[in-house]
This record gives sequence, C-alpha cells and structure tokens, in this order.
Amino acid sequence: MNERRLRVDPIACAAHGICAELLPELIDLDEWGYPVLTAPVPRRLTAAAARAVAACPALALRLERKPFA
Ligand code: SF4
Repeated sequence: MNERRLRVDPIACAAHGICAELLPELIDLDEWGYPVLTAPVPRRLTAAAARAVAACPALALRLERKPFA
C-alpha cells in the first residue's frame, strides 16, 4: 500500500487559495495565502485531492505516491 502526499511548488504557487477551498480537510493557508500541507492524503480524500491538483491554475500542486519504507 502506498501513501499519497500533496506537494506544492513554492515558486510556481501564486497563492490563489483555490486548493484550500476545494480541500479544506488537508490544506490550510498561511497568512500570505500560500498553502500549508501537512498530513498524508487519506484514501477517502484521494479523488478530492486529485481535483484540487487539476484545479490549480499555476500547476503548482501535485499528488505524489510514496511507498512505505
Ligand atoms: S491553487 Fe495552486 S496556485 Fe493557488 S494556492 Fe493552491 S497550489 Fe498555490
């Protein structure tokens, strides 16, 4: 089983905040409007995370699959 995590490219991110609106369970915004991603993506939120990735206008958000060590 693989763990999935959201990653943000801090250079590409333009702080639109759309991702946090679409996925408030996993994405907070810092005081400048940049996303703060902490937790792994639970299986039940995988589809919602993929939608947030697709909706990012700056293509700054990705969903990575990492195998357990
Ligand atoms: S939607 Fe994309 S550009 Fe906007 S805050 Fe989220 S990661 Fe950054």
